[in-house]
Amino acid sequence: MRRYDLHCHSTRSDGLLPPATLVQRAAARGVDVLALTDHDEVAGLGEAREAAREAGIELVNGSELSVSWEDLTIHIVALRIDPHNAALVAGLAAIREGRGSRAKRIGDALAAAGIAGAYEGALKFVTSEALVARSHFARWLVEAGHARDVKEVFKHYLVPGKPGHVPHPWATLEQAINWIHGAGGQAVVAHPGRYRVSASGMRRLLGEFRDAGGDAIEVLTSAHTAAQYTEYATLCRVFGVRASSGSDFHGPGESWMDLGDLPPLPAGVVPVWQDW
Ligand code: AMP
Ligand code: MN
Ligand code: MN
Ligand code: MN
Repeated sequence: MRRYDLHCHSTRSDGLLPPATLVQRAAARGVDVLALTDHDEVAGLGEAREAAREAGIELVNGSELSVSWEDLTIHIVALRIDPHNAALVAGLAAIREGRGSRAKRIGDALAAAGIAGAYEGALKFVTSEALVARSHFARWLVEAGHARDVKEVFKHYLVPGKPGHVPHPWATLEQAINWIHGAGGQAVVAHPGRYRVSASGMRRLLGEFRDAGGDAIEVLTSAHTAAQYTEYATLCRVFGVRASSGSDFHGPGESWMDLGDLPPLPAGVVPVWQDW
């Protein structure tokens, strides 16, 4: 059986490894099909494709789009997109553009809470021009001694109700799905178990996603428990969408699951790769 890992990040967004190193690591760990899904970005795919060819594994062109839905930020993974599609490229550029001013506002919000220098500090950790993420702030907050590790940061900072959180308008769900479909790809709800939403809210989200043409739910991901694997497999059947699997690996020492570490999909779901 082929091993799929359809969600990970390189230095082109907030991952710690360059695209080629990431691909080599995936190949060494037994991944047969890897999707590189940098946040709001496709710039790493060329390097990843070349490395995948050398390593003898399959690379799926991906991205992870930031979306505002109701009062939440959610992520939509794009798989098998044409990274040169003009509307998609423009859409991703528009999402990325807001990140710079948002980062300044995060810095201001942390300063107001007594933590000075965070914006400049976060920029030291940025590895791709124009893509600053909360993870870069998190790494600086750890370095500056405000938390033990990145996970700890997201308990006390940068999230709703905590210092350093700022609201930000991302793309809409419809925009994200339409850009992905326009570029020939499939749209996947990333790590649904992470969203702070009620059971009825989750059903509303998945219903809107499906009605807008969404293709799959990320059933297996490092943020999910085994119980959530079962829960989201059931929701795939309820909503008539496919199931995906991706580690969301960001780098050694930071992610709690490595590339290729996920188990096979539960029985009774249709894999997102069924017709690939
Ligand atoms: P942004 O897209 O700038 O809002 O940053 C989101 C990123 O922050 C995610 O993709 C993760 O890399 C990181 N992140 C968010 N929440 C957590 C968490 N609880 N633990 C570790 N990393 C997190
Ligand atoms: Mn990330
Ligand atoms: Mn995500
Ligand atoms: Mn991710």
